[in-house]
Amino acid sequence: MSKQLTIALTKGRILKETLPLLAAADIVPLEDINKSRKLIFSTNHADIRLLVQRGADVTTYVKHGAADMGVSGKDMLLEYGSEGLYELLDLKIAQCKLMTAVPVAGSAVECRPGVGRRLRIATKFVNVAKRYYAQQGIQADIIKLYGGMELAPLMDLADEIVDIVDTGNTLKANGLVAKDEIADVSSRLIVNKASLKMKHQQIQLLVDQIAKAVCSV
Ligand code: AMP
Repeated sequence: MSKQLTIALTKGRILKETLPLLAAADIVPLEDINKSRKLIFSTNHADIRLLVQRGADVTTYVKHGAADMGVSGKDMLLEYGSEGLYELLDLKIAQCKLMTAVPVAGSAVECRPGVGRRLRIATKFVNVAKRYYAQQGIQADIIKLYGGMELAPLMDLADEIVDIVDTGNTLKANGLVAKDEIADVSSRLIVNKASLKMKHQQIQLLVDQIAKAVCSV
């Protein structure tokens, strides 16, 4: 008899791109996730259910085994770590980059920190930013924000930001420009280490189906 499998999905644009992959692997929620306020969904497989969560919570649920598997952006894995889980597949969806960004040269808010002054970095990716600037040998004060990072240099809260960049339009609209690339980001299929042991056959079958779907999309 197969065991219940719980898959945690990241809501928003990652969810939109995940659902067609799941459908290609014959996993279909029984109701329209986008039209529901529910957080847990049954599927056409009695033994597979879906959770819909914020990215950071997906990694937490999978790490602790509250979900067996999940779909998480690489940015979340870099920020919150991968202890307790395996990254099984690059789903090649929601591709973007983690980058530093600064005010456009010559703009009113362009900052040039004086000699000896620590660089101020606004970001929600505190751990990523700490590691990155330390690797660059740059002394930086990291300021945690929960969104709208682009505002920080405009209001002189920070000299630079670390954020996700896709088209660059959000940066441009706020007088910023991407500077250095920190990491390529795409969504990953992750699995709890203990779940992989306990439900190996079931999970492997699913991973194979999703891998095929990734190749064919
Ligand atoms: P863009 O204006 O196209 O560069 O998009 C940048 C904004 O969209 C950022 O502020 C991100 O929060 C969000 N974004 C873009 N792509 C992704 C993604 N793959 N995952 C999460 N957030 C994203």
